[in-house]
Amino acid sequence: MEQVVIMGAGPAGISAALYVKRAGLDPLVFNHGIGALAKAEKIENYYGLERPLSGQELFDRGIAQAKALGIRIIDTEVLEISGFDTFEIKTTAGTFEAVSVILASGSTRKSPRIKGLKELEGRGVSYCAICDAFFYRRKPVGVLGNSDYALHEARILSQTGAEVTVFTNGMEPDFSSDCEFPLVTAKAVSVEGNEVVTGILTEDKSDPYPIEGLFVALGTAGSTEIARQMGAELTEKSDIRVNELMESTIPGIFAAGDCTGGLLQVAKAVHDGAQAGLTAAKYVRNQKKA
Ligand SMILES: Cc1cc2nc3c(=O)[nH]c(=O)nc-3n(C[C@H](O)[C@H](O)[C@H](O)COP(=O)(O)OP(=O)(O)OC[C@H]3O[C@@H](n4cnc5c(N)ncnc54)[C@H](O)[C@@H]3O)c2cc1C
Repeated sequence: MEQVVIMGAGPAGISAALYVKRAGLDPLVFNHGIGALAKAEKIENYYGLERPLSGQELFDRGIAQAKALGIRIIDTEVLEISGFDTFEIKTTAGTFEAVSVILASGSTRKSPRIKGLKELEGRGVSYCAICDAFFYRRKPVGVLGNSDYALHEARILSQTGAEVTVFTNGMEPDFSSDCEFPLVTAKAVSVEGNEVVTGILTEDKSDPYPIEGLFVALGTAGSTEIARQMGAELTEKSDIRVNELMESTIPGIFAAGDCTGGLLQVAKAVHDGAQAGLTAAKYVRNQKKA
């Protein structure tokens, strides 16, 4: 059983890991893909930088610093987290158990520009299979995405008997296991429906594919998607709701950095991570005593 698992190795995740380690615990960090920091061309407004650094360089320095302190970092994608007292973390590298989890995977919710998609959010367009699968039992649904996360969402939906088709929206399929669902790789033109979703039109056909639900699962599962799956409260802007100690509304689950909204800057992510690390370490100690 891990004590503290951290999802994301950006400024928030690494800062959290440093504080957990300094508190005498042994954090495990999962990271996959490219986050906001690595995308930044140049950072020059962060403390201590006498010359601007590329985001990638600052990211690499963070990883090197953590590794020098013996912090374990695994390159794997977190797909789902479940549980109450302790947590089960499903990743593409297997399932892990932990006493506490810090969500620090940035703000990754991607919503492609497809006509009708935004308008039909909450009326057939969903971002969370675990939350909404129940409403689509035995119904035809689409999953929009081309990665393991999309496949994971498709499998959750199919467990309720939904007839799932995966739409990659023009992207090459990038699954690490076989996709057992019908696959449409053509670009999506529009999501059809007035009151609710009735279909999705793609460039390869003149008629829409009839679907009643469309689950958006692009890229990797973001912290907010994971928090939503678990039933943690989000803010009006779909950020994870935390208090000043970076506690989410689920005991044992903490969040830090861009996924909690507010100032989207390295300085704030580092602060959040530090606080989340301290709070998580205290939480683990109290759990042990109990
Ligand atoms: C173009 C650009 C320019 C910017 N310029 C500046 C600037 O000049 N100054 C400044 O202070 N800030 C700047 N920022 C903002 C800054 O980069 C972010 O505020 C900061 O990186 C947030 O840190 P974070 O740790 O919360 O998230 P991120 O940096 O996004 O790190 C999250 C990490 O989690 C990983 N991850 C995501 N999903 C999963 C998953 N399912 N499983 C495992 N790992 C996952 C990601 O790959 C990533 O490595 C800029 C951002 C961008 C995009």
